[in-house]
Amino acid sequence: MTADIPWYRAVGQEKEVFEHCYRNRLPLMLRGPTGSGKSRFVEHMAAALGRPLVTVAAHDDTSATDLVGRWIIKGGETIWQDGPVSRAVRQGAILYIDEIAEARSDVIVVLHPLGDHRRRLFVERHDEELEAAEGFMLVVSWNPGYQRALRELKPSTRQRFVGLTFDYPAPKVEQEVLMGETGVDAAVAKRLVALAAKIRGVDHLGLAEKPSTRLLVATARLIRSGLAPRLATRVGIVEPLTDDPEIAEALGDLCNLVFD
Ligand code: ADP
Repeated sequence: MTADIPWYRAVGQEKEVFEHCYRNRLPLMLRGPTGSGKSRFVEHMAAALGRPLVTVAAHDDTSATDLVGRWIIKGGETIWQDGPVSRAVRQGAILYIDEIAEARSDVIVVLHPLGDHRRRLFVERHDEELEAAEGFMLVVSWNPGYQRALRELKPSTRQRFVGLTFDYPAPKVEQEVLMGETGVDAAVAKRLVALAAKIRGVDHLGLAEKPSTRLLVATARLIRSGLAPRLATRVGIVEPLTDDPEIAEALGDLCNLVFD
């Protein structure tokens, strides 16, 4: 592996699936909780396949125009400015739409003809129809547990994608991720993973989200740079997870149990 490919520790056969989708021009949907490695995976695959990567974080205030492009006034002239999706289509990039379930329906409408055999982007305002350049691939992600019922992906949209499910990796793998990402030693990595398992296992605390691999990576970095483990777990894991003082205390107790 070359140095400029972002490091990604494969958890299953996701690399193989991605490569086959790329080869067969099939759009791919990554499903899984925040911080479980979806973005890193896409960064890794884009670099490994030698494709540029264009990432868009979808919000409910993102319009199709934001993504496709608009006319702007510059120096007294009206010029066309491509949005990220048009750029990706022209470049033959990997287009990664993060949190697709947040996207408005006008955005989904734009993506449909891009994701199927047409591989076309209709740029209405510029009166142009772009055919995706060789190498273009559409990848989307979403987190089904997040704000359930508020945001779901329509079945008709889902059926347009090949699907891969991400989750927090098995303890041994997550430990390797922590060590590989931060250089923390095996004993610390093992404890952080054990702590995460404990917190992920308790339902009665009513946490909106479980601690992600991302939180563990940040905490491992703090410990690696010399911050005392108890303080690192408090600021790196407990604080980001809750505002409730009682829950924070319960989580703090768990941290202190693991890092005694
Ligand atoms: P998501 O896109 O699912 O929200 P990210 O890809 O941003 O999550 O992952 C968060 C962080 O966790 C990454 O920056 C990386 O440090 C780490 N990470 C998670 N899974 C892996 C993995 N399998 N290999 C390498 N790093 C990982």
